[in-house]
Amino acid sequence: MIRFDNVVKRFGDNTVLDGFTCRMAPGEFVTLIGPSGSGKTTILRLVMTLERVTDGLIEIDGSPLSHMHRGGKLVPADEKHLAGVRTRIGMVFQQFNLFPNMTVLRNITEAPVRVLGLTPAEADERARDLLDLVGLADKADEHPSRLSGGQQQRVAIARALAMRPDVLLLDEVTSALDPELVAGVLGLLGHIADTTDITFLCVTHEMGFARDVSDRVLMFDHGRVIEDAPPERLFTDPREERTREFLQAVV
Ligand code: ATP
Repeated sequence: MIRFDNVVKRFGDNTVLDGFTCRMAPGEFVTLIGPSGSGKTTILRLVMTLERVTDGLIEIDGSPLSHMHRGGKLVPADEKHLAGVRTRIGMVFQQFNLFPNMTVLRNITEAPVRVLGLTPAEADERARDLLDLVGLADKADEHPSRLSGGQQQRVAIARALAMRPDVLLLDEVTSALDPELVAGVLGLLGHIADTTDITFLCVTHEMGFARDVSDRVLMFDHGRVIEDAPPERLFTDPREERTREFLQAVV
C-alpha cells in the first residue's frame, strides 16, 4: 500500500503539489492525468526519492519514504535508507535508459546481482524467464542498439521486473515509440498489471490505455487532484468542468 499524506512540494515559491492525499492498494493500477505542469511527474520523482517532500509524508507498506524513525522521531532519511527504499520501486521511462555497452541479458541481471545479491546463475535464470515474458527470448545476447524502440522498452520493463518491485512507476513509456509499436508495449504492461500484485503508478497521455488498464484515474490541476474515479466513470461522465475540457482537448 502506498500512502500519500498531505504531500506538499515546492520549488522556490512555485507550489507544485498542494496537499496531495491518496491511498493506493497492492495491485492497484493508478493513472495520473492532467495538463502539462500540473505535478504528475513530480509525484513519480518523489516516490523514486529523486526529490524530497517539502511537507507531508509518503509511506510504502508503513515505512516512510523520505523520512526514517530515529530516537522516537521522524527525521529526513539518509542515503542508506533511501537506497533500501529504491530497491522496492521500479521505474520505466520515456527514454529507455538501457546500458548501451551491455548485452540485453546483462542489462537485466546487473542490478539483481549487484543490489539484491543474487548469484549470476540465479539472475540469469530470472532474466531469461522475463525475456520470455516480454517476447525477446532470442535477443539475450544482442546489444540494445540492435533492437527497435519497442524491443528496447520491453527490455527496460524486464529490467525493472527483475528487481521484483512492489511499485512500478511508468512515465510516458510510449512517447518515444513509433506509433505501430505502442500497442504491443501497452498490451504487455496490461498483461503484467493483470497477473502480478505490483502497484502501478502511471503518467500517460494515452487515454485509451488509461481507460483500459487503470483501476483509478486521478485528474490533476495546479498541484491538486480534482477528480479521482474509475476510468469508466471519469472518461464518460467527468464531474468537473476542468476534466471535461482537458479530455476534449486530448482525446
Ligand atoms: P508534463 O505533463 O508536462 O510532464 P507534469 O504534470 O508532469 O507535466 P511536473 O513535471 O511534475 O508536471 O512539473 C510541475 C511543475 O514543477 C512545473 O511548473 C515544473 O516547472 C516544476 N518543476 C519540476 N521539477 C522542478 C525542479 N527540479 N526545479 C524547479 N521546478 C521544477
